[in-house]
Amino acid sequence: MSVQEHAVLIVGAGFAGLGMAIRLRRDGIDDFAILERADAVGGTWRDNRYPGCACDVPSHLYSYSFEPNPRWTRAYAPWHEIRDYLEHCVRKYRLGPHLRFGAALREARWDATAGRWQVLTADGRRFSAPVLIAGLGGLSNPALPRIEGIERFAGLSVHSAAWPDGLDLTGRRVAVIGTGASAIQLVPQLAGRAAQVDLYQRTPAWVLPKGDRALHDWERRLFARWPFAQRIARGASYWLHEARAIPLVQRPRWLRVGEAEARRHLRRQIADPALRARLTPDDALGCKRVLLSNDYYPALARPDVELVSEAIREITPRGVVTADGHERAADVLVWCTGFRVQGRLPAGTLVGRDGLDLRDAWEQASEAYLGTTVAGFPNLFLLNGPNTGLGHTSVLLMIEAQLAYIGDALRTLRERGLRSVEVRREAQDAYNAELQRRLAGTAWASGCRSWYLDRNGRNTVIWPGFTFEFRRRTRRFDAGAYRLEPAAP
Ligand code: NAP
Repeated sequence: MSVQEHAVLIVGAGFAGLGMAIRLRRDGIDDFAILERADAVGGTWRDNRYPGCACDVPSHLYSYSFEPNPRWTRAYAPWHEIRDYLEHCVRKYRLGPHLRFGAALREARWDATAGRWQVLTADGRRFSAPVLIAGLGGLSNPALPRIEGIERFAGLSVHSAAWPDGLDLTGRRVAVIGTGASAIQLVPQLAGRAAQVDLYQRTPAWVLPKGDRALHDWERRLFARWPFAQRIARGASYWLHEARAIPLVQRPRWLRVGEAEARRHLRRQIADPALRARLTPDDALGCKRVLLSNDYYPALARPDVELVSEAIREITPRGVVTADGHERAADVLVWCTGFRVQGRLPAGTLVGRDGLDLRDAWEQASEAYLGTTVAGFPNLFLLNGPNTGLGHTSVLLMIEAQLAYIGDALRTLRERGLRSVEVRREAQDAYNAELQRRLAGTAWASGCRSWYLDRNGRNTVIWPGFTFEFRRRTRRFDAGAYRLEPAAP
């Protein structure tokens, strides 16, 4: 089969990959392809479509800074509006011809002789480019827990991130497993519609009120006519959220104020003291992602919703058995059990210089330099790479900072006539030592089990600082941290 050759290959058509494509076009690079495993763009916002799915970051902040969206209908956008926004970006920036759907990355291998990444997709297509940019998404592979009997269940079993179109649970007995950000949005939508909802909670989460509301027509008209007004709204939201990094990173004790507010929220919405006690977390607020909801607790107070806090022992063909031997029947199991964040790519997916497999390079810990480049992997750039996640604001701010950095790296490659850039191991090690030092005193290290920590207890997900610091550090490509290979004469 022939090889499709390009100047740049992007993997993934979510916010990261599409943002990169827009940046390339802006920089005058038109020879690129975007490989997408699904048959539509949108990433997270294509896959997560369960009832109630919405963003818990305000709409004005959850869009590219260069492409404000005056059409948001709510302060916190529902999933389909975000997907529509991304589809609008594809049309506006004419990315359609660059998209290759059904192109799941099977293998990408650095060919040192040719100075190119040779890429094979699962459907057998071959691509090649000197530069590979991976926007694979931090939360793109659903996780199912290992629970005895899980495969024996006779009813329907769905994961929140793979909600079948048109699935209607009216009148069904539904078991929801997990009480994270997805479950708290889904359960209020099921309550009152399903015949019964049993919610299996392993650990309660802190929940704060969500300042959501419908945006008025006049606001949309204002933003459409004067984009400047929306920039002001975005700016205010940016600084309000940025301020939250202070307690999370520097002053975890201040989070007790938030804890008091969360306890008040719980008291206001749950009258039963026993239920309230089961919903009160032991760990400190901020250690896990703080959840926002106004309708989660009221749903749990309903007679047709049961909070089950006994551990799950096994799944049977009929339902769920807890550690006390009690079996609760269910027609449908809904797994709100999150994503394989710390799970690694299959062997052979990304293979760098001298046959180094990223899976092996990350055997001990997922590490990159500025969350973007990895020693041993020339001309590979990661979007949303290690330690670019946030607990306090919109991750798009991190993505955009990375777009600027990679854009500048490509300019450096071009202008200096280089064949490749590869981050020096010493630079990567020093950067990660700094990150781990800074993470040690933060809220995320206050002693809970969270998806931010790998099996060694190391936080490889979160950026421990303000987003403006990350933006400053990624504004220019710092060639001094890299091995620069000149092009062959
Ligand atoms: P999650 O936060 O990882 O929550 C998974 C839930 O499943 C937790 O409650 C966990 O309990 C539970 N669980 C895992 N294994 C279990 C087992 N064996 N038995 C019982 N319970 C089990 O997943 P998520 O809710 O899908 O959210 C993941 C991330 O996606 C969020 O943190 C957020 O970053 C993002 N998200 C964002 C939004 C948004 O509005 N922007 C919405 C949804 C999701 P433990 O707590 O005990 O581990």
